[in-house]
Amino acid sequence: MDKQKTISSEVSFSGIGLHTGEISNLTLKPLKENSGIIFKRIDFDEPIYIEAILENVVSTNRGTVIGKNNIKIHTIEHLLSAIYALEIDNLLIEIDNIEPPILDGSSEIFFNTILNCGLNEQIADRDYYKVSEPIYYFDDNSDIALKILPSKEFSVTFESDFPFKGIGKQKFTLNSLSEYSKDISSARTFCSLDEISYLKKDNLIKGGSLKNAVIFLSEVNTKNDVDKIQEYLGENLIYDDSSNTLNNTKLRYDDEPVRHKVLDLIGDLSLLGKPIIGHIHSYKSGHRSNVEFGKLIKEMSSDFKFNKEEIKKIIPHREPFLLIDEIIGGIRGFSVIAKKNVVNSDYFFKGHFPDNPIMPGVLIVESMAQASCFLSFDNVKNRNKKMMLLSVINSSKFIKKVIPGDELILRVKLIKIRLGTANMVGVATVNNQIVAKANFMATIVDKNNE
Ligand code: ZN
Repeated sequence: MDKQKTISSEVSFSGIGLHTGEISNLTLKPLKENSGIIFKRIDFDEPIYIEAILENVVSTNRGTVIGKNNIKIHTIEHLLSAIYALEIDNLLIEIDNIEPPILDGSSEIFFNTILNCGLNEQIADRDYYKVSEPIYYFDDNSDIALKILPSKEFSVTFESDFPFKGIGKQKFTLNSLSEYSKDISSARTFCSLDEISYLKKDNLIKGGSLKNAVIFLSEVNTKNDVDKIQEYLGENLIYDDSSNTLNNTKLRYDDEPVRHKVLDLIGDLSLLGKPIIGHIHSYKSGHRSNVEFGKLIKEMSSDFKFNKEEIKKIIPHREPFLLIDEIIGGIRGFSVIAKKNVVNSDYFFKGHFPDNPIMPGVLIVESMAQASCFLSFDNVKNRNKKMMLLSVINSSKFIKKVIPGDELILRVKLIKIRLGTANMVGVATVNNQIVAKANFMATIVDKNNE
């Protein structure tokens, strides 16, 4: 069994942050076993601790942001990617600003500096997410997809398709973390020339420059476009129409962008809090889908499971109106996954419709609502004296017919809970295809007999 690791001595980094353009100082310190990776904002009177876990992700817009009580840390993915690749389990990251330094836009400096400072093996065993069955993630509104397949070790295949001149489709496989340093760590972040004016205008990249990012040209960019960008970047720019990059920046690998996507994916999935054993395959994913996929892995690997008898102890529904058969996963207080085996003997098929049995869409929403009762564990006081009643269906969509023989999977996420009303979104799938979606609310009320 592998042992947990931390660093053997403190190590510091300093440099400008991508968003702020201000100097940010980081100090990494060893932490005891089973602590995980924890950020500590030290620029407040009282230090603020934010664990690097999926539950603390507050934004995935152009970078992964964690936060607590409105205190945030931006662009954590490159540092976390290096930490994951070094197989470090426990670490305190002190930081005096809103983001780690961007350095050269890759994770190479983090990786090499931490490695040189040395790692310390601890006594406790490492705990893993080891997948025994494939887990699939499909984005609701695009062709982005991720999956993880059982495998002996951690590996990643990434397929991307960039609208940059001379780049287009790229595919890269990292076969083992032992190849991270050689194949991934020096791949820099990037964007297109067209994105710069918008990013600079919105003050999203005050610290962005050609020193920490590769800027790709599109097929249609001209010298005129480059001249316009010049004032934003405040750098003297060279336009070379035979080059695919601004200032004819030399790439570190021909396929540097897709390798950087692997770097980001590893950083984002490190927020699972435990190393993964399995082969991950991404098609065009970004921070948002990486984080959503991480949550799905966590839900499916959790021991948040209930059989039908256990379900009956928690929710008041009974046959024939107890629609869910099993709770197969979830993250306590955040999300739940329920299963319903749709069978010929389900009472509603007698009338809906005898010759052409179809599960009524409203009963799919009802099934989501029944599953949602399992979200209230940590969110409702005196829970055993309360029940949840469906109060609003904000929107719903029935995309495919659900028929006898289908295994209906209902994934319900809590969006927010306020003044005794919970807002939730549910997605129902059969064979990994979305059959229905709903956004609904449930109100927590007292049980009649209490
Ligand atoms: Zn990145």
